[in-house]
Amino acid sequence: MRVYLDHNSTTPLHPRALEEMRKILERDFGNPSSIHREGQQARRALDRARMRVAGFIGATPEEIVFTSGGPESIDLGIRGVAGIHSKSPGHVVTSSVEHQSVLSTCLCLEQSGWRVTRVGVDGEGMCNARSAAAAIGDDTRLVSVMLANNEVGTLQPVREIAAAARERGVVCHSDAVQALGKIPVDVQGLGVDLLSLSAHKLGGPKGAGALYVRRGLELAPRLHGGLQESGRRAGTENLPGIVAFGMACELARQQFEDHTRLMATLRDRFERELHERVEGISTNGAGAERLPNTSNIMFSGLDGEALLMNLDLMGVAASSASACTAGRDERSHVLQAMGLTDEQTLSSLRFSFGPTNDDDDVTRAIEVIAELVGRLRSCEDAHD
Ligand code: PLP
Repeated sequence: MRVYLDHNSTTPLHPRALEEMRKILERDFGNPSSIHREGQQARRALDRARMRVAGFIGATPEEIVFTSGGPESIDLGIRGVAGIHSKSPGHVVTSSVEHQSVLSTCLCLEQSGWRVTRVGVDGEGMCNARSAAAAIGDDTRLVSVMLANNEVGTLQPVREIAAAARERGVVCHSDAVQALGKIPVDVQGLGVDLLSLSAHKLGGPKGAGALYVRRGLELAPRLHGGLQESGRRAGTENLPGIVAFGMACELARQQFEDHTRLMATLRDRFERELHERVEGISTNGAGAERLPNTSNIMFSGLDGEALLMNLDLMGVAASSASACTAGRDERSHVLQAMGLTDEQTLSSLRFSFGPTNDDDDVTRAIEVIAELVGRLRSCEDAHD
């Protein structure tokens, strides 16, 4: 029996999302830009998906630009704003715990003359809204702070940060890739201008995503050569992926209460019982408001990679940091920003739950972890 506890890396495709994809692949194969009947049928499927995604985040359909996933949405949001100011590079405020997509995009901006301020976080991974607001200067063009952290789950005060940005006439982007389907995401309540999403984090397929662009906000397109997505993103739309994304959003919206309650119950039981059974562990970011599904555990004195590989052999899938840096022997910049030592960082693992998990998964995972930690610790004692 496998226990999959890595839903922040990716989630299984929901069967209803797969069904939608199949319909497009097998039947509604038309190009949504074509004016004939096949094209119009495909256009209707695209419009329905746009309504579903928009409806789930409190946006209007015209405010949704479909993309190939999180990084492209983030790139279009950040560099699309920067492109408007390309003649006079300015300043960007972001946080030190962003996903690599945001960090790397900001690095690219720095290479073309922009200044970037990375606001630090406290010991729970939380960015201080007042520090972010204080970093906004006269030449700041953009603030980009994630809604929920992918490694620890810490929720950031995006509403307060967006309000401070608005007061100064500065555009605010938020990477909501990990938040969608796990906490309420409402662009009006948040007051953001741009918001990035990815389908495969909530039961949709990989390679589809969206950028919310507040009505009236000007963006410099990144892909040229077609008028798709109202001229904001050229290229024939990935219709199978997009319709499945739409269905995933619709299902997540309908089952939001049940799913978030289930994930929180499983995660909380996992943490409670693990702390009872295993000594020398602590939960990173436990003091912060967190995603209901994410648990980042530090196993004092143990090598996280060895633990991870043995867990996999024993049937439990977890993660050492974000999936994007896994296997590259990189220390988690998130845990480091929270003040953990190198050793503590390398002893930490992420377990992330999803609506397909159940109580038996928690029971099994705890058994396996307790046995493994006991075994690894006794090996280390024997070496001492
Ligand atoms: N942003 C965050 C916070 C993420 O967790 C991820 C993926 O893990 C991404 C962006 C990248 O999105 P994608 O999985 O579509 O490449």
